[in-house]
Amino acid sequence: MLVESELDKFWNKRIETMPREEIEELQLKKIKAELNYAYHNTPFYKKSFKEAGVTPEDIKTVNDFDTKVPILYKDDLRAERSRTGDPFGGLLSVPLNERVKVINASTGTTGVPSVFAYTNDDWLTAAEQETRLKWMRGWRPKDLVFATGIRWHGYVVISSTGLDIVNITGISECMYPLPHIAKRHVIEMKYMKPQIFAGPMLTMSAIFEAAKKMGEDIKKLFSSVRLIDTGYGEIVTKTVKRRIEAETGVPPERIFDFGGVADPLWYFGDCEEHAGNHQCDDLFYTRAFDLETHEPLASGERGEIVVTNLFAEATPMLKWGTEDTGSVFSEKCGCGRTHTRSTILGREAFAANIKGMRVFPADIENILGDIPGFTEWFTMLKYSKGPMDTLKLKMATDRDKVKDPEEYKRQVKRKLKEKLDVDSEVEIVESVSDLPFVGHKVVKLFDMTKQA
Ligand SMILES: [Zn+2]
Repeated sequence: MLVESELDKFWNKRIETMPREEIEELQLKKIKAELNYAYHNTPFYKKSFKEAGVTPEDIKTVNDFDTKVPILYKDDLRAERSRTGDPFGGLLSVPLNERVKVINASTGTTGVPSVFAYTNDDWLTAAEQETRLKWMRGWRPKDLVFATGIRWHGYVVISSTGLDIVNITGISECMYPLPHIAKRHVIEMKYMKPQIFAGPMLTMSAIFEAAKKMGEDIKKLFSSVRLIDTGYGEIVTKTVKRRIEAETGVPPERIFDFGGVADPLWYFGDCEEHAGNHQCDDLFYTRAFDLETHEPLASGERGEIVVTNLFAEATPMLKWGTEDTGSVFSEKCGCGRTHTRSTILGREAFAANIKGMRVFPADIENILGDIPGFTEWFTMLKYSKGPMDTLKLKMATDRDKVKDPEEYKRQVKRKLKEKLDVDSEVEIVESVSDLPFVGHKVVKLFDMTKQA
C-alpha cells in the first residue's frame, strides 16, 4: 500500500534486496528466454547467430552468453537497414499495427531512419524501473517536480507513467538552454516553488545565467528544492556537484546523477550513498567487456558497458554495445540494495591510455576534486598514438588556495598512483589561458600527435 511504502526506503524491497545468487539465477532464466524469443521472431538475430556459428541451445550459462553471442552495435543495425530498407533493422518481432504502442525514431541522420519499437508491456516494465529509481533518489508522493528534459526522446512516456504511479506532480518544461526559455524557467521556479529540480547541467547553467541577468537570487530560487537530479548523459563528477552547490546552495549529497541509454530503455541513478549508479538487474543484464578483445570483465574492471534488455517484446536488444567506457560492480551497496552498480566515464576517445589503463577527465575530477585549490581547468596530454607510460597533466589551480605548488603536485601524483596505479607528470600553468581551448571549454585531452 502506498501509505506504508511512503515510510519505506525501497519501492520494491523484495526485488531490490534479493540475494545475489537469486538475481543471477533469475538473469540466466531471462537471458535464455529473451534469446530464444529474439532468435525465433526476428530476421536480424537469426542471421547474426548464424554468422557467429551459435544457436540458442548452445547458451547454457551466463558465460556462454558473454562469450558466444556477439555484441550488437548501432553500425550493425545501420548496415542491415541500408541492405534491406527495414527501419527496424530486422529487430521487430511483433506485428507493428497490432502490438506496438510507441515508436522511437532517432533524428539527425540521413538515409533509412533508426527506429525502435515498444509494446504496452515494454513501457510498463520500463516504468517499474523508472519508479524504483525515482523512489531511491528520494522522490515521494505529493512532491512537485520541475522537470526540464523529461520531454526527451520517448522517455516522456516512461517518466510520466513513473510520476503517476508514485503520485508526483510534474511541471514539464523544455530542456533547450536558450536564453528566452531559461527566462521562462526562472519565472516558473520562482512562483511554483518545486521540491525537486530535474534537468541536464546545460539547462541549469542557462537558468543560472538568466537569473543573474534578471536580478534574481539563485539561492532563493532554489530554496524550496530538496533534491536536484542531473546528468542525462553528462558525467556528474564531484566538481560538477560542487559547482551546482555554489550556485544553488543545495548540498552535494542531495544532488543525484541520472542517465541511461534510450534505445534499450536502460536507465540508472545513484542513491544517497553516491557510490556508483544503481541499475535493475531483474530487468537488464549489464556487464563491462574488454575494449579490444571483447572478453567479459570481472566486477569493477574497466571496459565497454554492454546492456541486454531482459524483457523487450517489440525490438529485442541482446548485448547492446553502449560505446561508453566504465565498470560494473556487484558488491552490495551501503543502502542495502543488491543489484549491480555501474560507473560510466565516457567515450574511449576522450581518455588517455596509460599502459592500457584508460584515464578519463571524470577520473581526474573525482580523484583530485578534494585537493584544496583543484579546478576543472586541466588538460591531459596525448603525446603518443599508442599506450603511454605516464600521464602528463597541465593544470591551472586556484592560486589563493595553493600556497606550495610543489606540494600540490606531489599530492596530485600520489592520489593518481593510489587510485588508478598510474604514474604522472604534473605541470602547473601560470593562468587558465595557457591551456588549449575549443570555444570557451578547455580541451580535456589534447592530442599532440595531430599537431604539426
Ligand atoms: Zn545504494
